[in-house]
Amino acid sequence: MKLKEYLIDSFMNLTSDGIVIVDINGTVLDVNKKFEELHGWMREEVIGHILPTTPHDFKEDALRLYQSLINGEQIKDFETIKLRKDGTSFIANVSVSPLKDNDGCVVGFIGLERDISEKKRVEEELLEREKQYRRLLKLNPEPIVLHKDGLIQFVNDAACKLFGGTSSDEFIGNSIYDYFFPKDKDVIVDRIDQIMQMDNYSDFVERTMLKKDGTFFDAEISSIYVYKNIGYPVMQSVIRDLTERKKSEEAIIRSEKLSLIGQLAAGIAHDIRNPLTSLKGFVHLLKAKNADYVDVMMEELEHINYVVNEFMTLAKPHLNYYMESNPSELVQSVISFLQPHAHLYNVQIQTNMDQDIPVIYCIPDQIKQVLINILKNAIESMLNGGLIQISVRNDANHKLIISVQDQGVGISEDKLTQLGEPFFTTKVNGTGLGLMVCKRIIHSHNGELSIQSKINHGTTVHIELPITK
Ligand code: ADP
Ligand code: MG
Repeated sequence: MKLKEYLIDSFMNLTSDGIVIVDINGTVLDVNKKFEELHGWMREEVIGHILPTTPHDFKEDALRLYQSLINGEQIKDFETIKLRKDGTSFIANVSVSPLKDNDGCVVGFIGLERDISEKKRVEEELLEREKQYRRLLKLNPEPIVLHKDGLIQFVNDAACKLFGGTSSDEFIGNSIYDYFFPKDKDVIVDRIDQIMQMDNYSDFVERTMLKKDGTFFDAEISSIYVYKNIGYPVMQSVIRDLTERKKSEEAIIRSEKLSLIGQLAAGIAHDIRNPLTSLKGFVHLLKAKNADYVDVMMEELEHINYVVNEFMTLAKPHLNYYMESNPSELVQSVISFLQPHAHLYNVQIQTNMDQDIPVIYCIPDQIKQVLINILKNAIESMLNGGLIQISVRNDANHKLIISVQDQGVGISEDKLTQLGEPFFTTKVNGTGLGLMVCKRIIHSHNGELSIQSKINHGTTVHIELPITK
């Protein structure tokens, strides 16, 4: 064999494509081994014949292609159906080039065939799986959004309803950042980067989100980076509406506050009765004599006024607005308010405040409620009286730290873990909601509440709050 022929022969039988060479009439001149495998014909059987490899329905297509081939054009990656010797068929990817003689006349064609049935089957399966996956997502009762590179790809029915859309389609292509506070964008971009490194759902984080009609609502979001289920990588986010939960949390905070007030009423009534008794005495004397006692009476009246006012402010439902307030003042007013309760338990309260206490951004009534809860617990832990030390410190890390240290009975280690769970109480008239509510309030202020305790030595509660710049 000449070198050239040898090269052509090896090429024909090395390639993984079926090769067929035909003359201008379609009569087979040669085929390779792969072609034999693909169609089930032997080379000897087909040479010199016109092969029925084109199904009837594709004859017109074939004719059109034949025309362009005759004109010297190439056909590349054409998908069609090809027949085997036994009449079965497969999906083929076909490329055909015209063969030309020295004058440039088309004298035949060389065709390359590849069986892509398996590839097609996988593709279709994937498509079917994606369809099923989307169906599952669509009907999932939890609001779910698929997004990629910050753009929404899919919104299920629940999410469409949550955001106030009329059809899921109207969200597709929107930027996910259109549904957040603009200032949150950087944080969210970072978070998405993090989640792409994980292979599980992220923890739920709270965010304020925007509906179609421009109203805001509180939501919590957890996302996962999925790339298997659907054929291409995408972020899948579950969004839960927190509006109802927030409402019931607020209701718990409110009712805990009312029960707190009820429990303190005895001490406060006592504190009002004392000055009233002395006022009554002085009025009796006043009737008989001159007015030397008026100054004392005025002081007592002031005190009654203060106690009653504080009581009323606490009891009244307040609007929960964040505002700048002075922590030292909050602490001081809570101490004055709880003075009667402390008297009842024979407890002294000492304060130790840093000079440069900055203002904090908070809901003042809620912080007061936390301080009342904690101070009241501290007072009630000291059955034989004692000293409570409250310190307010300006921490170096832009944190304000309020500590309340008592000398009470303390809390055993196993109970310490239960603190903050609802309804854990050791008191006859306790609700066991105090610390839970405290934790919730402090967390919603982006702070931390921690408790250290040693049995029979006392307990220290630390509250950490961020200092706003
Ligand atoms: P309540 O005061 O209604 O019992 P809390 O949630 O405020 O509910 O407190 C739960 C329990 O934690 C209390 O009943 C008490 O046993 C324990 N506790 C809280 N603070 C202290 C403290 N400073 N010293 C000792 N025990 C405490
Ligand atoms: Mg309590």
